[in-house]
Amino acid sequence: MSVKRLVFSGFDISGVLELYEAGALPMVTLWLSNRCDLNCIYCATEAGQTPDKGELELYELKDLIVQCRDLGARFAVINGKGEPLMDPRAWEMFDYIREQNMALTLVTNGILINTREKARFLFEHQVSVEVKLHHLDANVHDYLVGRQGAHKLAVQALNHLLEVGYATVREIDNCLETQLAVEVLLVKPALEGIPDLMRFCKENNIYISLDDFIPCGRGCDVGIVQELAVNYEERQWLCQEYKRIMGYPHYGTENWQCPIRIGLFIDNVGNVRADESGSSCDIYFTPNFANVREESVGSIWEKLLALRASRRFVLWELTQEKEAIMPCPKMREAQRKWEAEHRFGIWQQDYLVQNPN
Ligand code: SF4
Repeated sequence: MSVKRLVFSGFDISGVLELYEAGALPMVTLWLSNRCDLNCIYCATEAGQTPDKGELELYELKDLIVQCRDLGARFAVINGKGEPLMDPRAWEMFDYIREQNMALTLVTNGILINTREKARFLFEHQVSVEVKLHHLDANVHDYLVGRQGAHKLAVQALNHLLEVGYATVREIDNCLETQLAVEVLLVKPALEGIPDLMRFCKENNIYISLDDFIPCGRGCDVGIVQELAVNYEERQWLCQEYKRIMGYPHYGTENWQCPIRIGLFIDNVGNVRADESGSSCDIYFTPNFANVREESVGSIWEKLLALRASRRFVLWELTQEKEAIMPCPKMREAQRKWEAEHRFGIWQQDYLVQNPN
């Protein structure tokens, strides 16, 4: 008997693609404030203690949601630039987004889901929640996120969420759908423990999201890249472990696409990135394309679609052109070296060829 795949409702690629192909703007990803209560050694955004100058005001954030909704968007993701829940406006935004009948995903480190009431608010608002948890060993997690005690708080958040109803799964097609995910970073210090984390997630009906380390921001440092980056063989091993433990292959090995990049990405000061090549994480490497304070979302979206068409919107394809448009030479060099060494982008196809089932 085949095992039913557990899927995370927050990243419904089929729904996003359907809207995209019908000509709509399907999804918007918003960064809230720069402020963060962790200090992850790999932080791609270099989030800090204070807000950035000129961050979008609450009324602007709400207006953006309305503009996106009017262009067809049915999905919203709130994830940063620092920790979204450090932004006091976050809860009002959740309310507002749900009032617009948009599905909402929150990506958080979980520190501030510190009461059952907050977890219940999220559950009652049908928010899909992805909580950062890199390891079952507190020492490893706390080291990676740069704060002692962070592991305990992340586990506490997961417990609150499970207690208020997130342990429930819904049957859809041949899958089980959950609204709770754990975000794990594919890095050397966490690697050996990831299979245990997979078992923990499976037992608790939590989707496990295996995220790539992005050599950008604090992760740009050569020493950090050397310490954290995993190689091709380690990735393959992890894919095999995933299949062995979960009973089905990881999405990433089936040419799964991150829906975030299909839509529009707006940062905390209103910049939109030209995410037209490579992987979903291009948003960290590509230059600003437009700013929502200077033109409407509709006009930006039209221009972005034209740009994608002219540059070929190719998934997982790394091009010279992509290198050329990365803004920072240090980033460009770190990314180029890392991709070459770790064969990023081709490992998935290789894995599929070798593991067709
Ligand atoms: S990676 Fe996320 S949680 Fe960690 S410091 Fe950066 S913004 Fe904060």
